[in-house]
Amino acid sequence: MSRPTKMVINLAHLRHNLAVAKRYAGKSQVMAVIKANGYGHGAVRVAQALSHESSTADAFAVASVDEALELRAAGITRRIVLLEGFFDPAELEIIAHERLDIVIHSEQQVQQLLIARFVGELSSRTINVWLKVDTGMQRLGIPAEQAAAVQQRLAASDNVGELRLMTHFACADTPEHNANQQQLDVFNQVRKQLPSKLLQSDIETCIANSAALVALPTAMAAKAGDSKILGDWVRPGIMLYGVNPLVNEHPVADDLLPVMTLSSRIISTRILKPGDSTGYGKDWIADRPMRAGIVAIGYGDGYPRHAPTGTPVLVEGKPSRLLGRVSMDMLAVDLTDLPEYGEGDSVTLWGEGLPVWEVANHAGTIAYELLTGVAERVAVEVLT
Ligand SMILES: *Cc1c(COP(=O)(O)O)cnc(C)c1O
Repeated sequence: MSRPTKMVINLAHLRHNLAVAKRYAGKSQVMAVIKANGYGHGAVRVAQALSHESSTADAFAVASVDEALELRAAGITRRIVLLEGFFDPAELEIIAHERLDIVIHSEQQVQQLLIARFVGELSSRTINVWLKVDTGMQRLGIPAEQAAAVQQRLAASDNVGELRLMTHFACADTPEHNANQQQLDVFNQVRKQLPSKLLQSDIETCIANSAALVALPTAMAAKAGDSKILGDWVRPGIMLYGVNPLVNEHPVADDLLPVMTLSSRIISTRILKPGDSTGYGKDWIADRPMRAGIVAIGYGDGYPRHAPTGTPVLVEGKPSRLLGRVSMDMLAVDLTDLPEYGEGDSVTLWGEGLPVWEVANHAGTIAYELLTGVAERVAVEVLT
């Protein structure tokens, strides 16, 4: 038998989660965020699953031309948006050729796009632009007070095709935070400054990530799916992979289904006397007679090394916990109260039956980091 460390990717659950996102989105179109290799789930398989007739994303969003080209090469013809636009004007030709949409977030990008000249078969090609406005996150975006003027320069350019307005929230995972209302107010101010023929409903907008999609309308005392609050387009990422996007508990967590389940098997067991330890460092000590199972997965597979003793795991579906330090290829779990289990039995590290955010909380990180961090060497099994 080969090394039993694997992640199972459940594409039916992915499609189910898109349907949940669409329910919250109401009339807004859905741009599925599949950057970082589809949050570690495989960007091509995720895009193909979400191009399925029963559950279709209206567009995909990625972080770079390379990520977009991988999708185009796999036959994904749907709209693809580059969330940071181009990093070098040399990329514009391929962007035009592959019909990729770009976010424009800086004055430098505006200038580079306006002076670009496409030649040959691309000479009449335009690029669709999502103009990103910094409404308060202070990461990317044109300053709000300059946005209307930049919008007009872009609208007047032969290089620009469709033009939309976008922003991003800093605190959407905490819906009651007053920064959300402030950012929304700034965004609506920008819209009011646009030339009258573009006012309000005429220019499409895109503002909500998963957390904003799920919780913003309620926080703003509006109905779920209210496109005035959500914008014409929404950009869910993490919820598509089955993760509650909010810091606190929310009913959406019961609707979403885990897409990735990371598991391995017990390859050895140890009886521990009081005072014994397992693994490196001897900083965890058994305080009573115990039994440990050694599992073939470690930080070299993407399991967090900082996960402490007590981090939850499932042994053949039964709740148990991590013991001692995580090694590169192995870790130990508590079998003291599970005497019937041992070598060959399955251990779930997160996924089905064990939400990845619970493991992330124990390890002092977030689900995004765990999902995107699973190593290449972990075998993948796909359920369609
Ligand atoms: C990653 C990303 C998203 C998706 O965020 P989630 O929290 O995963 O829903 C949306 N918008 C932008 C600009 C992003 O970078």
